[in-house]
Amino acid sequence: MSHPVIPIVANPEALKADGLGCHSGKDQLDAAARAAGKSETLDQYAQDYPKGPHDQPQSMCPAFGSLRVGLRMRRTATILSGSACCVYGLTFTSHFYGARRSVGYVPFDSESLVTGKLFEDIRDAVHKEANPDLYDAIVIINLCVPTASGVPLQILPKEINGVRIIGIDVPGFGVPTHAEAKDVLAGAMLRYARNEAGAGPVAAPRNGKSDKPTITLIGEMFPADPVTIGMMLEPMGLAAGPVVPTREWRELYAALDCAAVAAIHPFYTASVREFEAAGRQVIGSAPVGHDGTEAWLQAIGNSCNIGQAQIDAAKNRMLPAVRAALAAKPVKGRITLSGYEGSELLVARLLVESGADLRYVGTACPKTIHSAADLEWLNARGVHVQYRASLEQDIAAVHEFKPDLAIGTTPVVQAAKEMSIPGLYFTNLISARPLMGPAGAGSLAAVVNAAIGNKARMDDMKSFFGGTGIGDSAGVWEGKPQERPEFRTETRRRLEKAAKKRKAEEMI
Ligand code: SF4
Repeated sequence: MSHPVIPIVANPEALKADGLGCHSGKDQLDAAARAAGKSETLDQYAQDYPKGPHDQPQSMCPAFGSLRVGLRMRRTATILSGSACCVYGLTFTSHFYGARRSVGYVPFDSESLVTGKLFEDIRDAVHKEANPDLYDAIVIINLCVPTASGVPLQILPKEINGVRIIGIDVPGFGVPTHAEAKDVLAGAMLRYARNEAGAGPVAAPRNGKSDKPTITLIGEMFPADPVTIGMMLEPMGLAAGPVVPTREWRELYAALDCAAVAAIHPFYTASVREFEAAGRQVIGSAPVGHDGTEAWLQAIGNSCNIGQAQIDAAKNRMLPAVRAALAAKPVKGRITLSGYEGSELLVARLLVESGADLRYVGTACPKTIHSAADLEWLNARGVHVQYRASLEQDIAAVHEFKPDLAIGTTPVVQAAKEMSIPGLYFTNLISARPLMGPAGAGSLAAVVNAAIGNKARMDDMKSFFGGTGIGDSAGVWEGKPQERPEFRTETRRRLEKAAKKRKAEEMI
């Protein structure tokens, strides 16, 4: 298929930063992207996903969030445009997490990037893929270098053969975390679907339309949680609606067609903007633990103009069961908690209500109005909450509070275990559990208490291994590692000399 060549503002400066990517060179990439016409997108990201007080939390490539959302949707193809090493890493991670779907890739080289041929290749690829028998939508994601080079996905056709084309820029230098990258794609899809719904009739949900007003739920959660939420809403004459990010295109219409929206995960700023543009009220926090469930049911009832008697009926149905579950499965011990999923404050509330002595919560996500109630509740109970937490802050909290259990990301857990403190991975072991209502109230205790009970084993291991394998003597050695302080001094001298030379050259 041939198309007229569209001249684009390709920016060869972007290539100078290739090979730096997420390791360094963010400023050059950002400047290159702005010079190539991406300022509007980057400014919107800076507003939606504010960085401070730290530049960027250390976590996986942000584009993974968008890729995962695309790969999970039925009848959706997802294509990456980026450096081969980034695409390799993203594809690997997707399959590690069970994508069971091919990831599309449009490769490039210096020439195709600077001449604008990459854009033509992308356009050919989406035309080839746009088979309405197979797909409702094709998602194409610009990674760091194509974004910095200004590859203009926004001028792709909006639709080919009835297949929707969604082009998004998800550079590591513009979107801080993979969690927020989920919102970039979810928000772009909601905007598209909102425009479709505004233009005429759209497809009904596959399982038919609910006969009750629904509450759309924002944020990926354990599959049982929407069911529990549905049971909580029933006495108020409401039902749980779709979960955003959705698993199918037509669910987007049902998500927009709701009575109110629950921002269970509080960082979906672009998605919230679309719901508000559709005239929907958005409620923060979530029905976790006793206090969280009570406040959330009240807020949802108020937003949907439900009478107080019905709101009270919903509370009376749920709160005694939540209280009983919390009392039956207490958590004993001091805990620090950190993660990058966006549900950290909710898990924290549940731990505190379960009786844990929680001192610190670090989340890679930013502070938004939708977690304000959780922040206030936790602060009132003496828990320090750190938004946009850095790895150093998370580890410093473990050193300071010497908890019985550190729940955190992989490097936090590793640091805790080195101190013979039991650790649990937030993503795999904590966030993949029910959190809402009575089911959530009892779900954390078993895993948390079992981990705390492992302290003696950690001490045994520590005394068995002693100081073996710590710091730069870690790894597999043929003989006993030798300290070489003279090498260290020489390397430091060379590095300082190179730094001085660089500085002198900059001043010329
Ligand atoms: S696309 Fe991801 S992996 Fe590649 S340079 Fe950017 S942040 Fe790093």
